[in-house]
Amino acid sequence: MTNCIFCKIRDREIPKEFEYEDDDVMVFPDINPMKPIHILVVPKKHIVEFIELDDPKLFFNIKKIIDKVIKDQKLTNRGYRISINGGGAQAIDHLHFHITGPIDKTMEV
Ligand code: 5GP
Ligand code: ZN
Repeated sequence: MTNCIFCKIRDREIPKEFEYEDDDVMVFPDINPMKPIHILVVPKKHIVEFIELDDPKLFFNIKKIIDKVIKDQKLTNRGYRISINGGGAQAIDHLHFHITGPIDKTMEV
């Protein structure tokens, strides 16, 4: 997809250090972190939004990678959030899962 930032990152047109990648998924830090840890897990295929994700194998692969990020970032007992914007709420029309943390429940509104 031309003019998609995440496709450009995938194609290395925009230099980016990947924290993890396999044939189908890439993982890199968000450029504008909302929490001390803010990592994006992104399918390499240009899927516009969550409701268009219809590949169970890819979905489960993403789930396993999210688990790994949470464990690698030592968020298992410090609080984490997995969020996905869609339906026009997203800034980038290429599916991505935000993993943010640590999250202290007592501090959240
Ligand atoms: P959305 O609102 O689409 O769910 O979130 C898009 C996210 O992508 C935002 O958190 C934004 O900071 C992040 N972002 C936008 N452009 C870039 C970029 O070029 N590189 C990285 N790593 N993150 C980006
Ligand atoms: Zn894309």
